Amino acid sequence: VVISGPSGVGKGTIVKLLLDADKSLVESVSCTTRAPRAGEENGKDYFFISKEEFSDRIAANDFLEYDEHFGNFYGTPRSFVERQLKEKSVILEIEVVGALNVKRLMPSSAVLIMVAPPSMEELEKRLSGRGSEGDEELRTRMQRVRYELDQAPLYDYVIVNDDSRETMRKIREIIRREKEKTI
Ligand code: 5GP
Repeated sequence: VVISGPSGVGKGTIVKLLLDADKSLVESVSCTTRAPRAGEENGKDYFFISKEEFSDRIAANDFLEYDEHFGNFYGTPRSFVERQLKEKSVILEIEVVGALNVKRLMPSSAVLIMVAPPSMEELEKRLSGRGSEGDEELRTRMQRVRYELDQAPLYDYVIVNDDSRETMRKIREIIRREKEKTI
């Protein structure tokens, strides 16, 4: 289950609600070369690794997919996902390029869900409120938001996140229906 959506749209909260509500779901923890933000934990939010280690792991085919984003690399560990998929549905919270790569690799089992903001103004407010980015980075991120939302037609589902609990319920319902299709 691939969940994408612009930075600041509330994906993290939604994924947390999903994991609390449904024990048949597990989240994949990505590797990244970006620095941890305040409060982020290694092994929980991401595995924070060096660029060198990241390239070694690309060479070892350790990533199901990876992409460069804002000058940093992000990748989904292949072995974790493949192991978990035997018993569970795996949630990947990744950006658009990675999501489309997963769909290409697993066309019949990947479900792509885009979480969209109620409005651009709302999103900009949330992003600047987070305070972790400077003005320049905020501008780059807002451009990226428009790009990501333009890719929505390539997704299987688009949900406008007015309320995280409601969005969580909608995603659970999608997963339930998709599982029925594959049984
Ligand atoms: P952030 O730096 O805000 O945590 O993440 C930036 C973007 O990278 C987000 O859109 C996030 O979903 C995406 N991302 C996180 N992990 C991965 C990954 O493993 N692969 C890809 N392709 N994107 C990722």
